[in-house]
Amino acid sequence: MNRDLKALKWFFDTQILKDPFKPGYATFKVTSRCNLHCTFCLPAYYSGELGEAPTEIVKKIIDNMRDSSIVVLSFEGGEPTIRPDILELLEYAHDGSFYVMLTTNGYRLSDEGFLAKLADRIDFLHYSIDEYHWNVKAYDTLCKFREYGLKVNVQTVVTRYNLSKLEEKVKKVHECRYKIVILPAIDYPTSKVKLAPDPEELYKVLSDLKKKYGSTLNNSWGFIKALRGEKVAEKVTSYAITVYPNGDLPYPDDINGKIVGNLSKEKLNDIMKKPVVKDLQRYMLSNQAKFEYLHLQTSTFNSLTDLLSYAAEMAKWRFLGRG
Ligand code: SF4
Repeated sequence: MNRDLKALKWFFDTQILKDPFKPGYATFKVTSRCNLHCTFCLPAYYSGELGEAPTEIVKKIIDNMRDSSIVVLSFEGGEPTIRPDILELLEYAHDGSFYVMLTTNGYRLSDEGFLAKLADRIDFLHYSIDEYHWNVKAYDTLCKFREYGLKVNVQTVVTRYNLSKLEEKVKKVHECRYKIVILPAIDYPTSKVKLAPDPEELYKVLSDLKKKYGSTLNNSWGFIKALRGEKVAEKVTSYAITVYPNGDLPYPDDINGKIVGNLSKEKLNDIMKKPVVKDLQRYMLSNQAKFEYLHLQTSTFNSLTDLLSYAAEMAKWRFLGRG
């Protein structure tokens, strides 16, 4: 199905029919190898532990999501550009059934041949830039991606130690007319170093930046207000899924979930109908606090004002190519 029709259907199902579990966004971890070992990352995402499917199986996984409600398909990792077939896979996915994103730490972004081919194969480039990715200098040359026709959404991890440096990053992104999404570091139960910023301090910084730089900041007001406990939704919802490199689907997410199926063998629509998925959804509704953080950003779309302002900004960006 065409991605714009899917988006309308997703809107109807979630906002009018109030389906709280219709996934619209898929994080596809196409590899578990990475050239970096960031402090806040789960080792399984850079050690190769979760493996990597061969090209034909990855295509099968993509096919099994085509007729589902997934509107945005994000290629992530590990570092997805480590795969030699990444351009082929992006091209395969980019047939009009998804908005395709590539999330990278910049591993191959100095390769001009690679960059020239990228613009035809993706809708948005998600570029992770911060001190923890060792590439903070990339902010200085960020605008060069315009020459290749790429729409860039920077994602930057904010910790208690780099909160004060956030504004200079947002300012540089604003100058290039791109967007930036700010991801607070999560302290996993296994994390040795505690990095998560204080939510109240983060609220103050993000709300000031949002007032000053407007839609450059891709974090919604709903997300920002939720940091100080303001309610964003009646119930916690799950509009995003994570897909492992071999097609396994941990549900409702990779932190608290169970593997409920494998997309190299089953269609997403069929997996979502399984009794185990329905049980996990009931569990999620009764243990909201546990899931709140991870699903917060998409739950904010239950506020119609937030959803419409976000959708309007993204549509403007899509059609006009401006941040
Ligand atoms: S670049 Fe991304 S995948 Fe690689 S170690 Fe860092 S956070 Fe993990």
